[in-house]
Amino acid sequence: MPLKTPAEYIESIRALQRTVYLFGQKVENTVDNPIIKPSLNAVAMTYALAQKDEYKDIMTATSHITGNVINRFTHIHQSIDDLVKKSKMGRLLGSKTGCCFQRCVGMDALNALSMTTYATDQKYGTQYYHRFLKYLQYVQDNDLVCDGAMTDPKGDRSLPPHKQEDPDLYLHVVRETNDGIIVRGAKAHQTGALNSHEIIVMPTIAMRPEDKDYAVTFAVPSDTEGIIYIYGRQSCDTRKLEKYTIDQGNALFGGHEALIVFDDVFVPWDRVFMYKEHEFAGHLVERFAAYHRQSYACKVGVGDVLIGATQTIAEYNGIDRASHVKDKIIEMIHLNETLYCGSIACASEGRREEPGTYMVNTLLANVHKQNVTRFPYEIARLAQDIAGGALVTLPSADDLNHPEAGKWIKKYFKAKSDIPAEHRIRILRLVENITMGTAAVGYLTESMHGAGSPQAQRIMIARESNVKEKQTLAKRLAQIIKNED
Ligand code: SF4
Ligand code: FE
Repeated sequence: MPLKTPAEYIESIRALQRTVYLFGQKVENTVDNPIIKPSLNAVAMTYALAQKDEYKDIMTATSHITGNVINRFTHIHQSIDDLVKKSKMGRLLGSKTGCCFQRCVGMDALNALSMTTYATDQKYGTQYYHRFLKYLQYVQDNDLVCDGAMTDPKGDRSLPPHKQEDPDLYLHVVRETNDGIIVRGAKAHQTGALNSHEIIVMPTIAMRPEDKDYAVTFAVPSDTEGIIYIYGRQSCDTRKLEKYTIDQGNALFGGHEALIVFDDVFVPWDRVFMYKEHEFAGHLVERFAAYHRQSYACKVGVGDVLIGATQTIAEYNGIDRASHVKDKIIEMIHLNETLYCGSIACASEGRREEPGTYMVNTLLANVHKQNVTRFPYEIARLAQDIAGGALVTLPSADDLNHPEAGKWIKKYFKAKSDIPAEHRIRILRLVENITMGTAAVGYLTESMHGAGSPQAQRIMIARESNVKEKQTLAKRLAQIIKNED
């Protein structure tokens, strides 16, 4: 049965035996760890919504390999409609969780791999596409979460992989055996690392012949021997340890990132999808990056939550009818929907590529992601403007619950007389969470650097734009050149 329930998903992650470090200690059970659990809940939502009739059209798809109904996160896009539904799925999940739900990186890696393995086979007569399809069917049949792992630590950014003083700063092949390869290195800032069944490793940049040992792509079960996870801190992460949910802002959901170390990890040949074909590293990176830039429809969903929270606090404070407040809410909506336009547009303008995979419009996907590096910051600024200073001066839930202090909080933190102070505090804590707390990692910093930092998009925008053609248009109208030129 391809579709797992959320409970089955959580138990399948519990079964993994991994080496995980958090706050200087080994974590045996990540599933019940209070710091990690909200991020697991966010991924579980990708399973929960796929079970619901009202969301089935968005959350599920028909496998082009087996014809089975599968979770869309394991699907290879077969049409423009699939691409558009992917964008809608991102917004939907962002709005249900208010954070990064982590599963997109694997979906984007699978789709990029479908094209790169095929193209490599065309050139070299290799068997990567066949291997990939077998692997894909395993992922679809078992409804697995794949972590698409691209970002190497990179060391000295001015040097290519083979010139680094420490050769492990880009993940590379150290040995080859009859059965497979042994790899060493690390992948940094890996979204959803601990909530994934599989890790799909890809190169992080285009490679030259001298870097061919670094041109390697493969998939391994996330509990393979030699893999070590070191959990990344998020601002205000210890709030998740507080006993009252009120102080957590978004107690149920969150995202996470980790450093994944590959300490001489063995990969069998049937899970290797690129091996030293260095000229296909860039092919894969560009496709993955464009897909993942489309995926940033997720931030539109988080924006929906933030706009809802901001309107609510405006009403609780009695300022919702002020014209400047109304106008600021309109501005937030305008920016958020502009982001949505970009994600839908790059999907609608997609095209069919070999071997039948639908690819987003690369220029529009990069323009979309460039907007994502900016607009959430402005939306967050407007939310903080309307929320007021209480956002950063609220007392703790312990004080709210204290018989003496609580009396004063309930009296002096109340705004509109029919709204309990606790409701006002709860909504302010949610705004705090999204604009300054753990979810701000996903809503702001990840918007900046996830799927590539802003400059990476500008390089692609320059490459994909035909400025010469625009010049010809202008020169014709200015009658510098004739129509037929
Ligand atoms: Fe998906 Fe968005 Fe998280 Fe990236 S940041 S994994 S696109 S939810
Ligand atoms: Fe991301």
